[in-house]
Amino acid sequence: MGTPAAPDNGRFRVLVVEDDDVIGHHLETGLRGNGYTAAWSRTGAAALTEASRTPYDALLLDLGLPDMDGLDVARTLRNRFRDLLIVILTARTDDIDVIAGLDAGADDYLVKPFTLTVLLARLRAHLRRRTLTTPVQNQPIHLGDLVINPTARRCTLHNTEVPLRPKEFELLALLARHAGEAVSRETLMAEVWDENWFGSTKTLDVTMAALRRRLTDAAEPLPVPTRLPRITTLRGHGYRLEL
Ligand code: CA
Repeated sequence: MGTPAAPDNGRFRVLVVEDDDVIGHHLETGLRGNGYTAAWSRTGAAALTEASRTPYDALLLDLGLPDMDGLDVARTLRNRFRDLLIVILTARTDDIDVIAGLDAGADDYLVKPFTLTVLLARLRAHLRRRTLTTPVQNQPIHLGDLVINPTARRCTLHNTEVPLRPKEFELLALLARHAGEAVSRETLMAEVWDENWFGSTKTLDVTMAALRRRLTDAAEPLPVPTRLPRITTLRGHGYRLEL
């Protein structure tokens, strides 16, 4: 017997990371049966690949994976996706493991064995709260004639696709979310690349130059006047996107 699903569950994508066939299959089918979009990865490496390919709202993460520690998966994905809901599924009941999991960036944990009903209730509570607190995070952003769709990872100008590399897109999306505001180089490096980035920030300059070029290249052949946002360099600080 299932729990009544929230009517809009289909908007939520859940990635199950679990090497146990029985549990993994049970979770994937249970989530789908309750209206979620669900996928299942059996290893940490597969999960990292899958999460970078498709945007997910939530991750159900087993800690004991065959190829790597689930804590490392949590840490890596938390660095990359600040809004991803991470729920650790663990057979470990020691407090120290739970603390390590939360320190690694998990939002919640469930100790095995748990029932699907309890898992679904927790997911609903988390996702409801998230929807209330960050309603605009995944909404398309309209700036003049430019539309940035974070969920589809597409950028269009007058309905024409602007081809962007992943980092160029993330940079543009981040600036667009803060349109009209100054965004520091440190923030851009931390959010688009890695929180623990200690390398040269030349990467940022190169990516920014490429992004500007792609936007002007996209606008040039269009037969109509185009309202294209401008990226202003703020010397010694960072950048600001504005119309
Ligand atoms: Ca396991």
